[in-house]
Amino acid sequence: MTCNRVVNSTLAEAIQIWGGSLFDSDSTQQSELRGGTSPWLAKSPRHRHPSIQESCRCDVLVVGAGITGSLVTEHLTSLGYQVITLDRERPGFGSTAASTSMLQWEIDCSLGELTGFYGFERAANIYHRSLQAVAGLGSLISDLRLDCAYRNRNSLYLAAGDIGGLELRQEHALRERAQLPGIYLDHPSLLREFGFTREGAIFSPGSADADPLQLSRALLASAVERGATVYDAQALGYDVAGSSVGVTLESGHVIEARHVVLATGYVMPNFVKSDIYKTASSWAIATPPQNEGQLWRDGALIWEASTDYLYARTTSDLRIVIGGEDDDTIVEPEDRDRLMPAKAERILAKLKQLWPIANAQAEFIWSGAFGQTEDGLPLIGPVPGHPRILAAYGYGGNGITFSYLASRLVGGMIGGQSEPWFEEFAIDRPAPAI
Ligand SMILES: Cc1cc2nc3c(=O)[nH]c(=O)nc-3n(C[C@H](O)[C@H](O)[C@H](O)COP(=O)(O)OP(=O)(O)OC[C@H]3O[C@@H](n4cnc5c(N)ncnc54)[C@H](O)[C@@H]3O)c2cc1C
Repeated sequence: MTCNRVVNSTLAEAIQIWGGSLFDSDSTQQSELRGGTSPWLAKSPRHRHPSIQESCRCDVLVVGAGITGSLVTEHLTSLGYQVITLDRERPGFGSTAASTSMLQWEIDCSLGELTGFYGFERAANIYHRSLQAVAGLGSLISDLRLDCAYRNRNSLYLAAGDIGGLELRQEHALRERAQLPGIYLDHPSLLREFGFTREGAIFSPGSADADPLQLSRALLASAVERGATVYDAQALGYDVAGSSVGVTLESGHVIEARHVVLATGYVMPNFVKSDIYKTASSWAIATPPQNEGQLWRDGALIWEASTDYLYARTTSDLRIVIGGEDDDTIVEPEDRDRLMPAKAERILAKLKQLWPIANAQAEFIWSGAFGQTEDGLPLIGPVPGHPRILAAYGYGGNGITFSYLASRLVGGMIGGQSEPWFEEFAIDRPAPAI
């Protein structure tokens, strides 16, 4: 089995090689990270925070206020830290606004693939952490009563391309051995229960969906109620020579923080290096609201076991959101956005094949840069050579699940915890042996 989203081209064909963000950390704007309009972006208020008036100190400075920065800020305030969070543009209007926000515990790399990389025990542990992360995120949303169209969902991992029933059965057997939830549906059962005409699927409980922008804003609002301060400001320089980190802002002010958390999404400062990271592009559409009977059973999250990737969900206002067509040879924002009409046509054609009774029109079309790692796992933890700076980069199709995981790991690390499994997400981990 292969990591679903890793490439749309062979490594030799790909323009990029693994090795870091393509986006300049000082100049990249949110509009370069995404094009078009997602349903969440269309209805979100355009709020900015006040600018900073003087230099100051805090326990933790969080740079970036998308879903990752919001989760980190919320968690750190709940632990009692005095937190300042910065965003140089509108919080949530970066990659978070482009997310299809399928909150899944199943990772872009199948358990089989991850076992090939790291052995069964470690791979199974990582899957369990991901399962716990989605459950933790659901509990947090429920405890804080966050208004974000959150819904518990089942998922269907459909046979597609080279991954047929046999390969899915093997993956399911491995998941059973790891005591992960889910059942294998063969073709007749899948057709009977869900109406999809594929060779088979793995049906799993424990995932969710939400409006990512509302979720991000609501988390930040909770943190602000607890005392966090959010500024409209750009971090430019990081001085780690002293016993705290001095972060110089574009305004010239300096924030002295005991710890800094980088939550800058797919735009990483150039001192953050990872050999296993690269940028691709993804495209998505949302249909107009469908009639009740036009949606598949339970609005399960759909994703394909294929590198020619397709993923789909429904929304609480009965739209189908469907995306994919990932391409790692197209990374320039202009090229990516020019392709939106053609990619939308292809995605709609796939929707007609997958679910012929849908009203297959695109009311919203959008695109986004998409950061991914060779093993489908996030980059979380200390930035080598930069004491007290921690990275929180929740890459891959599980970006938001991993953002939650990052918030907990970072909280633990700042509190002095050290667990061997933290290393599994280290930003300087080597490429997995293939
Ligand atoms: C098309 C598409 C579909 C996706 N679907 C899913 C999905 O179904 N499920 C899922 O879990 N994930 C999905 N993802 C991934 C997910 O959207 C991302 O992992 C997530 O949104 C990243 O959030 P972030 O907060 O890390 O980054 P961002 O939302 O980009 O936030 C980073 C913020 O940092 C700010 N910033 C950057 N540099 C500085 C600086 N120097 N100073 C101050 N501020 C700065 C930016 O302005 C920005 O607001 C998808 C992504 C795309 C593009």
